[in-house]
Amino acid sequence: MDKIKLATVWLGGCSGCHMSFLDLDEWLIDLAAQVDVVYSPIADIKEYPEGVDVVLVEGAIANEEHLELIHKIRKRTKTIISFGDCAVTGNVTAMRNPTGNADVSLQLAYIEGADVNQQIPHSPGIVPPLIDKVVPVHYIVPVDIYLPGCPPSAPRIRAALEPLLKGELPVMEGREMIKF
Ligand code: SF4
Repeated sequence: MDKIKLATVWLGGCSGCHMSFLDLDEWLIDLAAQVDVVYSPIADIKEYPEGVDVVLVEGAIANEEHLELIHKIRKRTKTIISFGDCAVTGNVTAMRNPTGNADVSLQLAYIEGADVNQQIPHSPGIVPPLIDKVVPVHYIVPVDIYLPGCPPSAPRIRAALEPLLKGELPVMEGREMIKF
């Protein structure tokens, strides 16, 4: 039987959700036996491939690169999991939204709020332009499963993934599974 093609993606987030994924500890060995990791910040793969079965998407949509990638992910993936509060609600990443737009956010962060080196980063082709408002993943593309938490705990990540590996939908039950 073909292995499940699993991807993990890091958009506008702090990587804490991926750290929680790594907290799965020895279950990662069981997981590795059942999946092919086809794209992830913990794997050196440059292009998001076709035919992905399940992807964990960490982070909100905050820049042009995220926008382009999330559309590609939707086209190429069966099941998208919004992975963590930034992906589900915008959370910390969206805290710049009250400034109004990307230019004001950059001005506040790099000029008015900076003690030294007051300079807005400008590296066309290297640093992707910010979009004006940070938005959760489902504002841009349909999402199949929501896994909130900042970050979701390792047991909750496992509870979401284990049924998917068997072709079933996860059901979160019990205090530990719905508390975050
Ligand atoms: Fe970091 Fe929390 Fe956002 Fe995950 S949900 S990327 S842990 S801030």
